Amino acid sequence: MNKLKLLGPFSQLLTMEELPAKGPVSDEQLQIISNAGILVNGEFIEAVGSYRELKSLTPVTEDTGGIYTVMPGLIDVHSHICWAGSRAGDYARRLSGWSYLQIAEEGGGIWYTVTKTRQASEEMLVQITAAHAEIMLMEGVTTIEVKSGYGLNKESELKMLKAISIASEFTSADLIPTCLAAHIKPGDFEGTAMEYLVYIINEILPSVKSENLARRVDIYIDKGAFNEEEGRYFMKAARDMNFELSVHADQFNIGGLNLAVEFGALSADHLEATTDEGIRMIAASNVAPVALPGASIGLGTGFAPARKLLNQGTTLVIGSDWNPGSAPMGKLLLQASILGVYEKLTMAETLAAITCRAAPVLGLSDRGIIKPGMMADFIAFPCSDYREIIYSQGAIPVAEVWKRGRRVRNKE
Ligand SMILES: [Zn+2]
Repeated sequence: MNKLKLLGPFSQLLTMEELPAKGPVSDEQLQIISNAGILVNGEFIEAVGSYRELKSLTPVTEDTGGIYTVMPGLIDVHSHICWAGSRAGDYARRLSGWSYLQIAEEGGGIWYTVTKTRQASEEMLVQITAAHAEIMLMEGVTTIEVKSGYGLNKESELKMLKAISIASEFTSADLIPTCLAAHIKPGDFEGTAMEYLVYIINEILPSVKSENLARRVDIYIDKGAFNEEEGRYFMKAARDMNFELSVHADQFNIGGLNLAVEFGALSADHLEATTDEGIRMIAASNVAPVALPGASIGLGTGFAPARKLLNQGTTLVIGSDWNPGSAPMGKLLLQASILGVYEKLTMAETLAAITCRAAPVLGLSDRGIIKPGMMADFIAFPCSDYREIIYSQGAIPVAEVWKRGRRVRNKE
């Protein structure tokens, strides 16, 4: 059977190719192909260009074109979509004026989700995670990073990571697991925060490695989580075990970004509290700043300084942070659009932050751009002008989604 298929013609194709890896991007730098076609070979892109020219070259045609703008499948570099239990009660308290820390101290917050997630069976977590991933996939997110971090002991952290692995069999989206056992010190751990981190290094991460459950780890550095000294011990040990690093950094207080830079993490995520000095520090490194507007919207707090980060020459990436507490919405494109209007990001910068600039944060070089050799992950919006995507503030429905060359969402 011939594995080649030609898709198109599409009104506009946004390849996201040849954009600078760092710094500001103008909309004029976007490569746009009109009346475009994509030649797909199995799971990969064979050729991209004028539909008419591609059609004259290939005997196999599958017409799916129309008034569509096509762009790479979206990549969410930061999510916590494996959880059990609702935090609607926390949200109600927050709206009544309680602070995030007050809620945590009164039995809500991350610890509440930990107790519910520990009680849930692996099978239930598989179902929940796959259901969340499917919602995201239908919204055009074809690659999703998923953190553990609601188990916080060996048994439950491994249960979460196994559930994430099994869930990936029930969705076409690619799930990239991260071990976040260092989310907070669990309330039932008898010992200091440092002793808990030693326990993670000695008891949890060796099994994560030997069972091949994740190649990335994350740690939450902030008040109520881990301090800089504890973080330094953990990141050094995790790096020595050859884990890729990311950090929940500078969300409420500064401290985590230093460590991300010191240990060459792939990303420093949050950064709402980052100062100008921190921006200069990350700009001089290869660490990618990840803005999480969903957490700002969920908490009613300010956004990460995305414009300044770009102006200083970093590669700004945007994640959803979808989680049951601080970011219960989950809509990546909508959140990115909202950040864009508050921080004055060009449409090109916003779209790059959830495609081509996002892939390297997950250590992936085979997606985020539509060009030959890349994975055939792309999505179609029902418009003939790409600007409608951000103009609608993410409310425009995705019409079609292709994952690894297979159409997984059809227009109704
Ligand atoms: Zn997070």
